[in-house]
Amino acid sequence: MSGVVVTGAASGIGRACAQALVAEGRRVALWDIAPAVVDVAESLGMPGAVVDVCDDAALPAAVAAAAEALDGIDGLVHAAGRVLPEPVGAYTGESWDAVMAVNLRAQAMLVQLMLPHLETVSRAGGDPAVVGISSIEGLTANPFIPAYCASKAGLLGLTRSMAAQLGPAGIRVNAVCPGFIETPMLQIALDVEEVAAGFVAAAPLGRIGQPAEVAQAVAFLMSSRASFITGTQIVVDGGVTARHP
Ligand code: NAD
Repeated sequence: MSGVVVTGAASGIGRACAQALVAEGRRVALWDIAPAVVDVAESLGMPGAVVDVCDDAALPAAVAAAAEALDGIDGLVHAAGRVLPEPVGAYTGESWDAVMAVNLRAQAMLVQLMLPHLETVSRAGGDPAVVGISSIEGLTANPFIPAYCASKAGLLGLTRSMAAQLGPAGIRVNAVCPGFIETPMLQIALDVEEVAAGFVAAAPLGRIGQPAEVAQAVAFLMSSRASFITGTQIVVDGGVTARHP
């Protein structure tokens, strides 16, 4: 029985994805740069490892260890991510690259390294799948975080390209675009009352979303219930992007 690697699994959406997959009977290897991932993994009875998804040199060994622990890799959920509040005039080449490296480049590197494992699962009759966590910021404009917006829009392009290349090998690649979700990443904004109220007002469903609600869409795309879905995204935003202001 093979399993799924979830990045960014110590916290927020990644942790919820790991929990949802385990609840569906999947095996999961939890990765995060934060050491807390070890405790989260232990609480789920699954293997966990401290992995920096931007560390190219460390990734081959991390993938090999996950394949060993899971007895093969049948999927990737790339939820590791970061945002820097740096509009035009504030970012540097270094900070721009740092956002791109986690949010976008890491998925490109990881799928490449996992490809032999995903192909093995497909050849054995399985349904290997990749889901990247993009964002509504990859679909619409946020003036304060251009690198983040570019990385999340880029992830959608990467999703389509990988789906087109890997579809013939039976590997599906999709994305999920969350709206405003209550996680540590959004907490700084949620702590400002007017900002939090703005997020609530922006959503026709009238509230902030929960990580578990994003994880349900991810678990669906990772499962054979989504066996004919590839190269696209599911928006989980309470309707924010559906409504013109
Ligand atoms: P979070 O901060 O709770 O989780 C992000 C996790 O990624 C953290 O545990 C962090 O340690 C990990 N991480 C960061 N850099 C890493 C690296 N180099 N290697 C390995 N792990 C690393 O935030 P979250 O909101 O759960 O974010 C999860 C994903 O969802 C991110 O890609 C984020 O951009 C995306 N997202 C979040 C929201 C939201 O409103 N919270 C909305 C849209 C998209």
